[in-house]
Amino acid sequence: MEVPFLDIKKQNEEIRSLVLNEIDGLISKSSFIGGEAVSRFEKEFAEYIGVKHAVSCGNGTDALVLALRACGVGYGDEVITTSFSFFATAEAIASVGAVPVFADIRRIDFLIDNFCIEELITEKTKAIIPVQLFGCCCDMDKIMEIARRYDLKVIEDDAQAVGSEYKGKKAGSLADIGCFSFYPTKNLGGFGDGGMCVTNDDQLAVSIRALKEHGAGKNGAEARKYLTGKTEELEVGESKTGLYDPYKYYNYLVGYNSRLDAMQAAVLSIKLRHLDRYNEKRRDIAKEYLRCLTDDVILPSYSKYVVPCWHQFVIRTDSKYELIDYMAKHGVGCGSFYPVPLYRQKAFEDIIEPDKYLVDAEAVSRQTVCLPIYPEMTDEQVQFVIQTVNSFFGG
Ligand SMILES: *Cc1c(COP(=O)(O)O)cnc(C)c1O
Repeated sequence: MEVPFLDIKKQNEEIRSLVLNEIDGLISKSSFIGGEAVSRFEKEFAEYIGVKHAVSCGNGTDALVLALRACGVGYGDEVITTSFSFFATAEAIASVGAVPVFADIRRIDFLIDNFCIEELITEKTKAIIPVQLFGCCCDMDKIMEIARRYDLKVIEDDAQAVGSEYKGKKAGSLADIGCFSFYPTKNLGGFGDGGMCVTNDDQLAVSIRALKEHGAGKNGAEARKYLTGKTEELEVGESKTGLYDPYKYYNYLVGYNSRLDAMQAAVLSIKLRHLDRYNEKRRDIAKEYLRCLTDDVILPSYSKYVVPCWHQFVIRTDSKYELIDYMAKHGVGCGSFYPVPLYRQKAFEDIIEPDKYLVDAEAVSRQTVCLPIYPEMTDEQVQFVIQTVNSFFGG
């Protein structure tokens, strides 16, 4: 039997005709950037997460960059984050000119260890980025409590956690800003790149909206006021009808071009209606893995306050490469996220002390094996993955 590590074809086939219909409409209107499809999806997504504002953007990495900039993070600042995540989490920090400060993780759930955060706070610390990795949620109450005490902003990296819950609230609604990715293989995946920032804070929402479109327009003027305190203006014309935006080509901040296009928004609107069903299916598979996999591997665990969306199902073993090879030989695709702690990535060699060594991040990065988990897996495929893992260990 073949069990690919990922298979997004079936899910996309299911909605093909609905998507073609929407795209047909968009071509007729020739409305490709912004417009009704985008604002509709933003509204639906905000409702789904349970927050006041959702601001779409080009991808999950941009969502993090926009969130950092909206929080006023820039040159010389420090941002505390996990040492074990996809590169983009730390890249976003470095790309706004700040320094990522890496905390160790908890082996049991791969998440930032909140007991390691406080000792890393300095005069320069501006924000914390906890990553809801693999679809699990960090100890957010504790992290928010530390952040409030030191007056720091908290930005959730929710790229892998759309639909996850912590104490009955959705990931994304747990901090100052939540950042999502709609990369095609995420739990809510578009037909290309896409991203979203969510927040309950009106000022942060305006700043993100301004920054994603060149810091222009009325949003730009307002965001400049929040971020720089400056209010003096060039002379701007007036539109008596309100049909023309005289601010459009007035730029107030150096921002980005990072937009979600209408076709992606249309696809994501359609898929959002099915997201809970997709995630429920992942939870069923995870339950079966947790029930049936051999004790010879270390299974993932999570706090009782968390309902994970199981973006990945990650086991640990000291025979990582042997197991991955064995699985491949038997037709089962596996991954290993992430093989190197972020502070050892060559890209950071000039900004991180060279002898940095975090015990748990080092141990975990040598052990992780990610098993296939996606809603379209058949029961037979799930059982085959279990049998194959267990047979490697002689079970
Ligand atoms: C995918 C991912 C991102 C980046 O999202 P893109 O849409 O690919 O830019 C950031 N952080 C984490 C944890 C991710 O998994």
